[in-house]
Amino acid sequence: MHELSICQSIADIVARYAEGREVRTVHVRVGQLRQIIPETLVHCWSMVSAQTPFAGSVMQIETIPAAIRCTVCGYRETITAPVLRCGRCGAHEVSIVAGEEFLITSLELAEA
Ligand SMILES: [Zn+2]
Repeated sequence: MHELSICQSIADIVARYAEGREVRTVHVRVGQLRQIIPETLVHCWSMVSAQTPFAGSVMQIETIPAAIRCTVCGYRETITAPVLRCGRCGAHEVSIVAGEEFLITSLELAEA
């Protein structure tokens, strides 16, 4: 499963940053174009983290809507379907400006 391997990578990164401190919450930002199901990711995190020193930590996911910008007219719009076409002038020359994010934004650690 896609989400499971993602959680394993996140666990490696969290372990490096936590340096043995207790982890309460892991904040993750996920772009819509990543095709990650947030509920599945949270579920996988509870399974993966159960094998680690940060078992019981919670994953909080912030979803970023996909957005494109037209390189012809400069129009920026949020898209709900992966249709790469300007909604104003109809040009196909658009670039993806949001929706491909995947990052750990912060960790909440227990007081030392
Ligand atoms: Zn346009």
